[in-house]
Amino acid sequence: MSKTVPPAQLCGARRPGWENGPAIGINRIPCILAAGHDDDHRNAFGQTWPAAAPLAAALLQLADKLDRRRPRAVMSEALRRAQALVLAEELHGPTPAAEAAEEELLATLPSVRERQTRSQYAAILRQIAQGVTQ
Ligand SMILES: [Zn+2]
Repeated sequence: MSKTVPPAQLCGARRPGWENGPAIGINRIPCILAAGHDDDHRNAFGQTWPAAAPLAAALLQLADKLDRRRPRAVMSEALRRAQALVLAEELHGPTPAAEAAEEELLATLPSVRERQTRSQYAAILRQIAQGVTQ
């Protein structure tokens, strides 16, 4: 790093599958490139990971989260909306890209059906993610 980027302007994306929890361990270290960068993400240890297919990654991330936390609880529309916002910020940090991602997620996440459990909803998300990745 030849120049220091203020924290607010960092990308801050975490490696898929390692997004949650404190930044302990090399795989949890967030991207240190400037927010909105074009190339692969890169952390302070020089690890890189692709910025491509963020939508599929976000869907799988949400599916895992729903399965992990109270999978038999009823899925709700409020939870769907809240998670779209949370995921978008986890992927992009507090940037305009996060706002676009939230819109994209809300457009992609299917409506919640009555008495659908979080686990059932997660299964649908995984199917959609496969379609997105192809
Ligand atoms: Zn990045």
